[in-house]
Amino acid sequence: MSECIDFTKKSLTEVYGENCFSDVIMQERLPAKVYKELKSVQNGERSLSPEVAEVVANAMKDWALEKGATHYTHWFQPLTGLTAEKHDSFINPCYDGTVLLEFSGKELIQGEPDASSFPNGGLRATFEARGYTAWDTTSPAVIKENLGVKTLTIPTAFISYTGEALDKKVPLLRSMEAINRQALRVLKAIGNTTTSRIITNVGPEQEYFLVDEEFYDQRPDLRLTGRTVFGTMSAKGQEMDDHYFGAIKERVAVFMKELNYDLWRLGISAKTQHNEVAPNQFEIATIYDTANRSTDTNQLLMETIKNVANRHGLVALLHEKPFAGVNGSGKHNNWSIGTDDGHNLLQPGDSPEDNAQFLLFLTSVIKAVDMYAPLLRLSAANAGNDHRLGANEAPPAIISMFLGDQLTEILDCIADERELKKRDGKLVEVGVTTIPRFPMDTTDRNRTSPFAFTGNKFEFRMVGSLQSLAGPNTMINTVVAEILSEVADRLERSENVMKETAAIIKEFYSRHRRIVFNGNGYAQEWVAEALSRGLPNLTSTVSALAKMTDPEYVKIFEKHGVFSKAEIESREEIYLETYSKQINIEAGIMAEMAKRMIVPASTRYLQEVLDSVKSQTALGLDPAAQKALAEKLSIHVNSTLTAADTLEDEMAAALAIEDDTLKQAKAYRNTVIPAMAALRTHGDMLEKMTDKAYWPFPSYEDMLFRL
Ligand code: ADP
Ligand code: MG
Repeated sequence: MSECIDFTKKSLTEVYGENCFSDVIMQERLPAKVYKELKSVQNGERSLSPEVAEVVANAMKDWALEKGATHYTHWFQPLTGLTAEKHDSFINPCYDGTVLLEFSGKELIQGEPDASSFPNGGLRATFEARGYTAWDTTSPAVIKENLGVKTLTIPTAFISYTGEALDKKVPLLRSMEAINRQALRVLKAIGNTTTSRIITNVGPEQEYFLVDEEFYDQRPDLRLTGRTVFGTMSAKGQEMDDHYFGAIKERVAVFMKELNYDLWRLGISAKTQHNEVAPNQFEIATIYDTANRSTDTNQLLMETIKNVANRHGLVALLHEKPFAGVNGSGKHNNWSIGTDDGHNLLQPGDSPEDNAQFLLFLTSVIKAVDMYAPLLRLSAANAGNDHRLGANEAPPAIISMFLGDQLTEILDCIADERELKKRDGKLVEVGVTTIPRFPMDTTDRNRTSPFAFTGNKFEFRMVGSLQSLAGPNTMINTVVAEILSEVADRLERSENVMKETAAIIKEFYSRHRRIVFNGNGYAQEWVAEALSRGLPNLTSTVSALAKMTDPEYVKIFEKHGVFSKAEIESREEIYLETYSKQINIEAGIMAEMAKRMIVPASTRYLQEVLDSVKSQTALGLDPAAQKALAEKLSIHVNSTLTAADTLEDEMAAALAIEDDTLKQAKAYRNTVIPAMAALRTHGDMLEKMTDKAYWPFPSYEDMLFRL
């Protein structure tokens, strides 16, 4: 919608959600009885009956047709990390040449895309290659609209006929169920009688870059891989800190206005936007929602960012590291758990009882993160994110938790049986059985921690900008559910619940406080310190993914019904394969750009310099510096060619390892990536020396400082 969006003509409240088959629309359009039944389906109290599905489908179709949609799609999230859709029109031709417009309950509930072309990591060999998509009734259908093409989009989960999860949503939904079950047990055990459901809430902050389409089109690396494999930093980088929170440029402001408009129409709560640290880098945050809905809306948001950018002659780069030398992009994952009666279980309270509950959940998360750090780490692992984690701009690859000085002090006092010193002029009693009343200082902030407590939620900062929220939250939910199940077991057996609660808090924190680190996570000393604390440092995607199927992890996945052994094994396989494929594409485009773009350009320039040296010498001049330049050009042209050949050899060797995905991924990491780095050095040297007029693709300066 490129036409001017004027909120004086149509108010923001009218615009908001107009493309979303939201609760309020359902209430309007469904018979009361049907609406009520659908609500109880959403609350997990019953399954969707065919009769109700029929009525809902009909209402949805009428609504979509009124909005101008002609097709519907079961929208799903296969393990490619992207989203997938197959469009069907509503038409049903009649014998007399007319057409009926139909959409049945069955078509709403279930679709049958051909699963065989999606990655399944061996599940296909064991099971039939057929799969079906099933409507996730808790996530609303929307009308996706781009350039006037409107499609009714139904969020679904993708499952094989034998029940295996083939996508990212199914395990997420299962993990939400797991944490619901276990947290409810804990709440019941400590006397809560009002809560009937636990909700996982997630609020994402999304970073991205914008570049002019004209430059993007000229960079095969950006087009094929989303990142630049060559390029030298311009004279100016991000050192002036003048982009962060700076005034938003007009062209970007107009883009953002339309982005917000499109998102609001979809009922997506775009709230905060600003310039990020790197030049031409931006952030948008939506307001938190249930983990599955946030997962869906974040995918829609990424798609919308790209579409709207294109309409403005821009390209949005969502890759974790499009440019070397400036910050990459992440996706902060703000996570909390709350009750259906409106309490955030990570919110400190006023009374000692409330705080006991808060500290019980808090220390359970601490224990979960310490015990299962590798699972969190691997949930943020992909080839793109390897450029960020530990690279002085994003959290290190080591998982640690930030609690803030005050909360740490309170927990230290509990663990060490010390008296908590004065707060607000009051002495707070801390003993084994007494849980303190304490004021929380929520201004305590740390920007370098991978897993930071920020007052009433945790902010997991490792997640990559391009990643689905499903993976990280599946892991957080599962590991926390596991610890909560242990807590529930103990409390259910206990004679004195309050005493046992205090004992658990003390024990969990004493045994797991090594994971708490309030200092600077970017500092080099932290790496050594973490090592001495025994914290794992999984520095690459490959080493992280290799942990995925450790028996202790498989055990908890199976216990909580999140993944079967076969499912988790297939995922490890797929993610390793994806890693290898991605590096292979990057390496391939690199060798090609070196040979077919960089070397020819620099050789032409070298010839020009040589000609000039020759004619100058003939006149008796002494062009010594130009001779030296010619020599350097010659050396680096040669080295570029040699390094490109070496890279191709390493690629061929890695590609030949077919029978062992882990071994193959290791080959890409250990031999192909270093060969890419070597090639880049020479290619980038040539960029610095070659006449700009000859240079075959836009520079960092063009891409980062022009909009
Ligand atoms: P910042 O991290 O920049 O200070 P905010 O505190 O405003 O940003 O919140 C960032 C994200 O955290 C937003 O998406 C917000 O909706 C989300 N958020 C706020 N409270 C919660 C909560 N209790 N659970 C999950 N996410 C939350
Ligand atoms: Mg944040």
